[in-house]
Amino acid sequence: MIIGVSACLLGENCKYNGGNNESKKLKDYVKGHTVVPVCPEVMGGLPTPRDPAEIIGGVVRQKSGCSVDAEFRKGARAALKKVKDAGAELAILQSRSPSCGVKEIYDGSFTGHLVKGKGVFAAMLEEEGIRAMDVEDL
Ligand code: SF4
Repeated sequence: MIIGVSACLLGENCKYNGGNNESKKLKDYVKGHTVVPVCPEVMGGLPTPRDPAEIIGGVVRQKSGCSVDAEFRKGARAALKKVKDAGAELAILQSRSPSCGVKEIYDGSFTGHLVKGKGVFAAMLEEEGIRAMDVEDL
């Protein structure tokens, strides 16, 4: 199977704070499959490290209030194209990210509160009919 994967889960240091979310469980799960790594935020032209962002009223903003919505959407479109062009049927994504979150995201208050919802990239995958799975559900 061809599987799109949040690049930070594979150990790539593309997380907002310059680190990663390497997951042994994910790496074991995708063994024998073709993996297509994507980081929508980096693909949207954002630097690493970068200020954390949350979705507020449908717009992705940094804590300062500065909108990074255009970069998030540009990167999500590029990541979607990459996984679609590769023929991926499934994507396994990092939890709670404003790009990659599949089930829950932070509520926009930057206080750690979660709400049901999807990140920008996860929502685009769903619209395209590509199944997205939260890495914590492996
Ligand atoms: S955008 Fe997705 S792949 Fe990139 S660091 Fe955030 S969770 Fe990981």
